[in-house]
Amino acid sequence: MNHILRQLPAIHELQQDKRFTQLLENKQLSKGKVTEWLQEAVADIRKRVLTGEIEGDQSITFTDSIFSRLSERVSHHSTFALQRVINGTGTVLHTNLGRARLSEKAINQVVETAYSYSNVEYNLKQGKRGSRHDLIDELVKQITGAEAAMVVNNNAAAVYLVLKACAKGKEVIVSRGELVEIGGSFRVSSIMEESGAHLVEVGTTNKTHLYDYEHAISEETAMIMKVHTSNFKIIGFTKDVSIAEIKPVACAHNILVYEDLGSGAIYDLKKDGIGQEPTVTEALQRGADLVTFSGDKLLGGPQAGIIAGKKKWIDQLKRHQLARVLRVDKMTLAALEATLKDYVNEEVARETLPTLKAIRLKKDDIQKRIDKFTSSLSPFWNTEVRNGVSQVGGGTMPEVELETELLLLANENIKAQYIHDELRKGTPAVITRIIDDKVAFDFRTIEEEEFEDLHRRLQDIPREMGKII
Ligand SMILES: *Cc1c(COP(=O)(O)O)cnc(C)c1O
Repeated sequence: MNHILRQLPAIHELQQDKRFTQLLENKQLSKGKVTEWLQEAVADIRKRVLTGEIEGDQSITFTDSIFSRLSERVSHHSTFALQRVINGTGTVLHTNLGRARLSEKAINQVVETAYSYSNVEYNLKQGKRGSRHDLIDELVKQITGAEAAMVVNNNAAAVYLVLKACAKGKEVIVSRGELVEIGGSFRVSSIMEESGAHLVEVGTTNKTHLYDYEHAISEETAMIMKVHTSNFKIIGFTKDVSIAEIKPVACAHNILVYEDLGSGAIYDLKKDGIGQEPTVTEALQRGADLVTFSGDKLLGGPQAGIIAGKKKWIDQLKRHQLARVLRVDKMTLAALEATLKDYVNEEVARETLPTLKAIRLKKDDIQKRIDKFTSSLSPFWNTEVRNGVSQVGGGTMPEVELETELLLLANENIKAQYIHDELRKGTPAVITRIIDDKVAFDFRTIEEEEFEDLHRRLQDIPREMGKII
């Protein structure tokens, strides 16, 4: 068997093959990526020799089968509708670009869970049917202090389920200042209507007082809902009523207090001087019976809606028919559990979750990224580095401006708009902004491992120009 294995060509030999260089030229792929696939193809053949699937002393040409595997992999890669992009906008949670990036741990968990069978609905201790909600229940309890928790498809689904299961046919009191629209498609008032709960608006756009809530309470009131207005800020003469103030009134009337937190921070960014976002724990401590929040905003996990709070209500939600309709897949649960686990130790969360890392990235570190990137940039480009701001995005913390450094690229012979469009149309697509007729890159959201691809995409531009001229 060993003498067969010895016939396997070395990677550096395969890289000399003209098929390798052709792939690099035609397909706009990085050398690193194609080499990685080459290694995979070789490893696959090696495995098949070891398992005896390829046997005997036949004079097989490994090189041909390696390259046929490689070209399969490459054509597969270039035909996906959903593909990775390089986010040069600096907006960390860009809703159009997939919001949060997952941690390595979360990705590995997804891969492993997707590849194998899993105990997604099987209780291994008792050897009988289990509930998928129980998989993250303990973790959420541990890191937020909630009595119980469950997960649904996204936060919009979480809001819908809470309203439907706890307030259908009844009245829900909401401050006018909190009747927000999020992301152009999620309106509290519309989702309320869909759920069959009756909206009772109180107060005005800028001011709502405790007596507004008190006056609105009737026999029909099931719930007071607070919506964290995460995507806009009213400034000037404003007044809103905190859950802590509402709680005693609600208790006296036996009314549920529910807060839709939206972004749902578990890590307290206020400690780092970033924003004013309340944490999930704070919302629960102030007295919310239920809170809902997104998995892929500040939490930094997969798309999901998490509902946490009093066990009595969570149990009611879990039993509702809609829970089955809105349930999440095992891959979501895998990614979510791995993400939540990092929060058990806050330091781990802050060092490993890409969202928290990117938000907390200092201007100096962004400057270092730019220096490193420009050190091997072609002289074709005129460069300028200037101060700028990046956004957290995802509708969260609109008032927060994260200080950053922007790299501006230009060439006197090409319009910025052309460069911007070309970068977007190639593979991998690069999303940039145009500032002062230059193409702007915010390296807050560009990682070092993306440099090679970005360099190559930038080299394509003068090359394409050459063809046109
Ligand atoms: C983002 C947001 C939602 C919607 O959450 P999705 O996860 O996008 O479904 C609902 N409410 C608030 C307050 C939000 O910020």
